Amino acid sequence: MVEEILPDIFKITVPLPDHAVRSVNSYIIASSDRTLVIDTGWNRMACLETLLAAMEEIGVDRAHADLFLTHIHADHAGLAGWMAQKGATVYCGQRDIALMDNFINTSGDKSWPVMQQLAKPHGFSTEELTKGLEAHAGNRYAPEGLGQMTAVQDGDTLTVGSYQLTCIATPGHTPGHMCLYEPTNKLLFSGDHLIGGFTPTISQWALDGTGVDDYLASLDKLLAYDISLALPGHWDSFTNWQGRIKKAKAFHAACNDDILAVLADKQPLSARQVAAARSWNGSKNAWVFFPMARKWSATADTLAHLCHLRDHGQLEMIRHQEQVLWRTKID
Ligand SMILES: [Zn+2]
Repeated sequence: MVEEILPDIFKITVPLPDHAVRSVNSYIIASSDRTLVIDTGWNRMACLETLLAAMEEIGVDRAHADLFLTHIHADHAGLAGWMAQKGATVYCGQRDIALMDNFINTSGDKSWPVMQQLAKPHGFSTEELTKGLEAHAGNRYAPEGLGQMTAVQDGDTLTVGSYQLTCIATPGHTPGHMCLYEPTNKLLFSGDHLIGGFTPTISQWALDGTGVDDYLASLDKLLAYDISLALPGHWDSFTNWQGRIKKAKAFHAACNDDILAVLADKQPLSARQVAAARSWNGSKNAWVFFPMARKWSATADTLAHLCHLRDHGQLEMIRHQEQVLWRTKID
């Protein structure tokens, strides 16, 4: 589905079959010189067909299109390799480029070996590690054949036709997440940093990561901008971006409280065990119904909050054999 937002700016709803969020938004800023595509969908036929049909409908020559990735998750970056092979320059935040190097086995065997090693100390069984990888859309539909990407920094500008776009580094959902701001019409391409209907998880496996603090600071950073319309990575465009920022902050404060309550009986638990006992979407039993890939992302989000609570003096991290465990701080 193609929707014209402004002259030469189009929103494409790209389906994500069998995924809870159902679709990802790709944006096309058309130009007679170089067109810019923002995010693509998975490396999967249904996504490619949608993108190709949209380009044809808009009249974009795909040999003259570049790609901007808000972040490296496969639902946004899946077709980056395909576009690169058609001649696109692929722009992405530096810290996400570094992650992409970790997660894609460049030999073409998409086994995500680094990912498995990162998840291993946090309470997953060998079977869960194998099953999680097989099922994970980020693994199954990751970009292929993606060569060198072009790093963008906070404040960089890209010119596409008559539009000037400024890159805003918004680490949190991923460490290298980037938004794009168009100042004349006050548009914000917000990726997964700010979404209308829900608050994105923070994906963090690194024990020295600061994903939650980064995310909160990135929310505050946007308050300095004047935004008429936010164009998110999923679902509908929205105008009440300040209200969304408030909700996102309240959401993460509630996540912290929930995690502290889970650990209140002082038993050390792994990140996976804490994640299993948290409420998700207001339900204490939600974990049981999560597919394995969702259990992985829920654990990564929990780990981000555990590290945050440790860094703010509320929890202790302990190592037990090869496992990493968490408990309330004992004075
Ligand atoms: Zn996404």
